[in-house]
This record gives sequence, structure tokens and C-alpha cells, in this order.
Amino acid sequence: MNETSKVAGSCLCGAVRFEADLPSKWCAHCHCSLCRKAHGAGYVTWVGFEQHQVSIDNDAGQLEWYESSARAQRGFCRQCGSTMFFKSERWAGELHIAVGCLDGELDRRPDTNAFFDAHVDWMPIDQSLKQLDG
Ligand SMILES: [Zn+2]
Ligand SMILES: [Zn+2]
Repeated sequence: MNETSKVAGSCLCGAVRFEADLPSKWCAHCHCSLCRKAHGAGYVTWVGFEQHQVSIDNDAGQLEWYESSARAQRGFCRQCGSTMFFKSERWAGELHIAVGCLDGELDRRPDTNAFFDAHVDWMPIDQSLKQLDG
């Protein structure tokens, strides 16, 4: 794999853009209720990076952080509402990016259903992946 390769992404309106240095650390579907609400989706697919691997272009000043729970924040665009980022003391030093906001190809596929105990029953789920509760 080319160690200098990057993956880019943005919010829906393009006011917030970012670029992450590959390789990523992990990729997983999150079934927690907070992700579900924040994204209006059955579950959310996240990719994990070290914070220093990611550079965010917020020249338009539209990136806002919402404290979705104690010691956890979600980064979204004030203009279009896209939820792009997650960071938490539980994964200190990491920045998690919503895979749906990427424009390029990622270096891996999701291999885990996280917070599986919170999953909804109205959405098909890949049962072949590793399952984690909480
Ligand atoms: Zn936007
Ligand atoms: Zn979640």
C-alpha cells in the first residue's frame, strides 16, 4: 500500500473539507442510539484515525462541535447539517470520520458491528462481522 496516500471528504455543501492520511486504524458500523439520532440513519459507519492524520479545512468557519455525551463531541457543518466527525476521551487522540462523507476510496472495509446490543430490527445487518456490545 502507498503510505503517502490520502482520502478526502467533505460535508454536503462543501463548506467543511478534510483530508486524512492513510492507513486508517479501523472501520466499523456503530449501532448506538446517539449515532442513529445524529445521522438519522439505522447505523453509522465510522473510520478511525489518529487526530494528527487528519487535516480539516474550516476556512468558511462552518464546523461546529456538539457535545453529544459527557466527554464526547460530534463535528457537523452549521450550514448543511452533515455530521462528519466524532471524538471522545474514551478513544483519546483519535478522530473518527463518518465514511459516508468521504469522496475517495478507503483502505479497508468495516469489520465490526459496534454497540450491537443497541441495534434496530428494521435494518438488514451483516451478521458475518465481529459483534461488540457497548
Ligand atoms: Zn456543509
Ligand atoms: Zn455510535
